[in-house]
Amino acid sequence: MRGLLTLKDLSTDKIKELIQYALKLKKGFRISYPDKKIATLFFENSTRTHYSFQCALMNLGIKVIDFNSSSSSIAKGESLYDTVRTFEALGVDGVVIRHTKEKYYEDLKNIQIPIFNGGDGKADHPTQSLLDLMTIYEEYGHFEGLKCCIVGDISHSRVAHGNIEIMQRLGMEVYISGPEEFNDHCAEWIPLDEACRTMDIIMLLRVQFERHQEKMKISVEEYHKKYGMTYERMKMMKEKAIIMHPAPINRGVEIADEVAECEKSRIYKQMTNGVYVRMAVISDVLDGNL
Ligand code: ASP
Repeated sequence: MRGLLTLKDLSTDKIKELIQYALKLKKGFRISYPDKKIATLFFENSTRTHYSFQCALMNLGIKVIDFNSSSSSIAKGESLYDTVRTFEALGVDGVVIRHTKEKYYEDLKNIQIPIFNGGDGKADHPTQSLLDLMTIYEEYGHFEGLKCCIVGDISHSRVAHGNIEIMQRLGMEVYISGPEEFNDHCAEWIPLDEACRTMDIIMLLRVQFERHQEKMKISVEEYHKKYGMTYERMKMMKEKAIIMHPAPINRGVEIADEVAECEKSRIYKQMTNGVYVRMAVISDVLDGNL
C-alpha cells in the first residue's frame, strides 16, 4: 500500500530524512503539485489534524476535496472500502483518513492511490509522531539519550502508542506516568514529580473520555492535582526541559491554564510544525520516495 500508514514501516534514517525535509519547507523551500487532488476523510472529530492536512495540501498547490461523512453515502451503509474506491474511481490522487477503527487500512489493501493515516483508533497517528519528533529535534538537535515521559491517559492514546515505539528506536528513554487505571504497561511507569525533575520532555495527554468504557475513577479536580502539569510542577522541571501536548488541551485538567502558554510550552509550535511534516510526507509520496 502506498502513502503513510504507520511509522513502524519506516527506518529511522527515513524518519530523520522526513524531518530534514520538513525543516527545509519551514525555512521557505516550495514545491507545487497543481494537477493533483487529494480528499480528506475524517470519521472522527478533529481540528488540528484535519485542517493542518488541508493547509499542507493548499501550501503544495494541491486541490482539496473535503468529505463530509454525515452527508455521504456512509449514512446509507456504504463501507469505508467502497467510499475510498469511489474516490479512486473519481480520479483523486490520494486520501487522508482518520477512523475510529484500529488499522482500518487493512480493509483497503486493494486501493492503489496513496493513503495518509490521520489517526486510527488508539493505535497510531504517524504525522503527529513526526511533528512531535520535529519539535524535539528543533529543540535539542538530536534524539539519542533524551528522556521523555508521556503523562496521562496512556491506554486510550494513539499518540502515546505511536510515539513510544519510534522514540525508543531513535535512542530516547521513554517513560509513562499518570493514573494506574490508564497504565497499560507499554513503557516503564514513574511518579510524576520524579518525571518533572528529571525529564527533558514532558508530553501531556488529554483524558480521552470519548474512548472510555467506564467512568474515570477520580474527579477532574483530583486528576489535575495528582497528575496535572501545575505551575508548581512546571517550576520543578530542568531549565531546558520542555512541555508538549498533542492537543486538544483541557486547561485545568491535564494542564494548568497559566502553564499552557508558558515559556516551556511547545504546544503551539507543535501545531505549526504539523503543517510542514504533512507537506513533507505528501510531497515525498507524490514524488515516489515514500
Ligand atoms: N489530537 C490527538 C489525537 O488525535 C490527541 C487527542 O485527541 O487527545 O489522538
